[in-house]
Amino acid sequence: MKLTDLTITQAKDLLKKKEISAVELTKAYIENMEKYKGLNAFVTETPEIALEQAKIADENIAMDKARELEGIPMAIKDLYCTKGVRTTASSKMLENFVPEYESTVSKKLLDAGITMLGKTSMDEFAMGSTNLTSYFGEVKNPYKRNGEDLVPGGSSGGSAAAVASGMAMAATGSDTGGSIRQPSSFCGLVGMKPTYGRASRYGMVAFSSSLDCPGPITRTVADSALFLKVISGLDEKDPTTAPKEVIDWTKVLGSSIKGLKIGIPEEYKSDKLNPEVQKFWDERAEDLKKLGAEIVNISLPHTKYSLPVYYIIAPAEASSNLARYDGVKYGYRTKSPYHSLDEMYELTRTEGFGAEVKKRLLIGSTILTEEFYERSYLKALKTRRIICEEFEEAFKKVDVILTPSTTGAAFSKNDKLSPLEVYLNDIYTVGSSLAGLPSMSIPVGKDKNGLPLGLQVMGRKFDEETVYKVASQLELISQFDNTPSKVMGE
Ligand code: GLN
Repeated sequence: MKLTDLTITQAKDLLKKKEISAVELTKAYIENMEKYKGLNAFVTETPEIALEQAKIADENIAMDKARELEGIPMAIKDLYCTKGVRTTASSKMLENFVPEYESTVSKKLLDAGITMLGKTSMDEFAMGSTNLTSYFGEVKNPYKRNGEDLVPGGSSGGSAAAVASGMAMAATGSDTGGSIRQPSSFCGLVGMKPTYGRASRYGMVAFSSSLDCPGPITRTVADSALFLKVISGLDEKDPTTAPKEVIDWTKVLGSSIKGLKIGIPEEYKSDKLNPEVQKFWDERAEDLKKLGAEIVNISLPHTKYSLPVYYIIAPAEASSNLARYDGVKYGYRTKSPYHSLDEMYELTRTEGFGAEVKKRLLIGSTILTEEFYERSYLKALKTRRIICEEFEEAFKKVDVILTPSTTGAAFSKNDKLSPLEVYLNDIYTVGSSLAGLPSMSIPVGKDKNGLPLGLQVMGRKFDEETVYKVASQLELISQFDNTPSKVMGE
């Protein structure tokens, strides 16, 4: 078996038995990074750092002191601040920003022994679903549609492309309205957005602070469980993290789902939904029923407001979060001549931000003006509360909710989707983001063009356990083969 086809679970075992070394494993990934450069998944590659870490990993293994993810080659989305390694959020604004501190998530991963291969591309400041808005150029999906290039999804598109093509064994993503789940679905991977507060946002470049969640992008559910355990937990540097026990979710994988109630929300059955996705949704629900689960039809009537609410709250918070990029403290400063401080701000922000970011900042700051605040922002906050309450009510009746992850498979930029159609991509993911629920995308099959399709499992707050249990059954039933060398047609 090719080293870059191993999952974390398999690699851990082989490393422990000393059948492979962390150095050779890391080298195999570095080779693939070279080979598949054309996908443009990385903004910054750090092979030297990875090899240094791999040497230490091998020493630890030799002394039987292996840590939880010792020697596992990973990629980090380029919005996690990494000490001494450029962190750009795929923006010109941060093109040369080298943080002096480490984000909690990347620190936890490094402390657990990973080797860091590099920083992956994303939509600029995590705003998008295509990875077309990166300042460093578009990222390509390893899957093609009859030879045509497709988007990997976004905003964690670089991470997803890297994992699917065998350029990293796993990668961090971040999810504000779907940015872990949608690219995972588009690239045939497992994407987990944990409960808001399960893992720390400290050191992540902020987009929308009440929604941003760090999380894993992996090939299997077991890898996801291992990964999430490492990055979870209370962090004094992020007051929104919760003092919840971090459990070993791998223990529940494959266990019985007999008697479990699985909700199917009426309102998610949309005419926007690709019939092939609908078919998988129906079939997998039926499969879970055969395993003893009970399928329950539920209603989430305010679902139709999720998208507008998200696209009010997220830009509003972004306009406040991104106010810090003023050309003074750090990041880009205009090179053009200016005659006043205001002019310097204006030129810096005009030149430093891309079009999508500027659009959202304009929307966000307009929403927060006295004129619009009450009728848009406040209304959105109230509606968000209702959406949360509807989920709470639903979870009195069911244990998890099963929905599609996206309306269809990955698309091409030549499909010429309107901005609204691109925003519609998030229709299935934003609801649980607004409510802060754990939600996971699992690949369940392929469409007629051979492109991956995913289903989403949402759970009660901090009940990742049941989500993982159901996800593992979906994985077993679906037998989706995401072996990187096969995906790349090697
Ligand atoms: N696609 C959504 C957006 O454009 C979600 C992005 C995210 O989760 N970071 O805002």
